Amino acid sequence: MTSHHGKGALHLAMVALLAAILGACAQESSPNEDLEDGRRPYSELYEAFSGLTDRGWTLDVIIESRPTGTTAALPIIALRSPVEGDAAWFLSGIHGEEPAGPNALFTVLDDIALLGERYPVVLMPLLNPQGYVRNWRYLNTPVYSESVEAQSVGDSSHLLVDPAAPGTARADAASSPEAAAITAYVLQTMSTYPPRYSIDLHEDNMLQRGYVYSQGELGAADPLAREAVDALKSSGIPLQLDGETRFGEQIENGIIGPVTDSSIDELMSASEVVVEGTIASGPAAATVLVFETPSAAASFDNRVTAHVELLRRLIDKIGTESTPESRPE
Ligand SMILES: [Zn+2]
Repeated sequence: MTSHHGKGALHLAMVALLAAILGACAQESSPNEDLEDGRRPYSELYEAFSGLTDRGWTLDVIIESRPTGTTAALPIIALRSPVEGDAAWFLSGIHGEEPAGPNALFTVLDDIALLGERYPVVLMPLLNPQGYVRNWRYLNTPVYSESVEAQSVGDSSHLLVDPAAPGTARADAASSPEAAAITAYVLQTMSTYPPRYSIDLHEDNMLQRGYVYSQGELGAADPLAREAVDALKSSGIPLQLDGETRFGEQIENGIIGPVTDSSIDELMSASEVVVEGTIASGPAAATVLVFETPSAAASFDNRVTAHVELLRRLIDKIGTESTPESRPE
């Protein structure tokens, strides 16, 4: 009788726990429903991306992200294609108020799956899910401000060499658990999927005209950067072809060459990194592109269409490239 009673209490406790979890999930998804800019709900993106496992891909949970002020953890995921080797890496959603990239990846997911059948791919489709559901740029603050030290999930300053003090990193530690986990994942995964291409999809709501960063070894002369500018042009995205960015960076035909910004893109291009005080080999991707579409000057649908066009063109170029490592003749 006593034990039966005990089981009943346990059952009730489990029901209460389940209700609490479901309640937390409902609360978590509610901010997303309020964002009426056209972006797909987080759950729909997550389901689609993780569905690549049905096609032989491996799903990695990099970290369960639960920054201060959030009610339930959301996983930051990566997906690896069935084939290993020199790879194309796709990154998106680093800044939560830039929804075009993750939504474009949703649209071209089948093209990425097909590319992954013949060329190694690592997909990191939504690197700041908590930012996405809250429309927050960073983990700890919605927008850039001079009074708050912003925590970007892509911050790589703890691994990048300090130009003023060679042999040491720019920061002692990662600025957040998310940045620590994401950058560690890059360094770990580059042994089996060395990045040949790194494509990072961004937007900028301060911009009236877009441009492309090319952080790889060819810099502004990278033919894929030119292809990207052409794709933006043909999608009707206004472009800034010359002059300087508001950060004082030189623009050449819509392209900005390598910059030192402690971003994950600088990490992807770095040939050297500092890991726990010791110099080690970096990812050294040959082509590193970062797209910036102007959210002040183009509609959400237009920006998604532009990112889709970019991705389709690059997937096509990458898929027809032959490398001795992955595609012996
Ligand atoms: Zn951004």
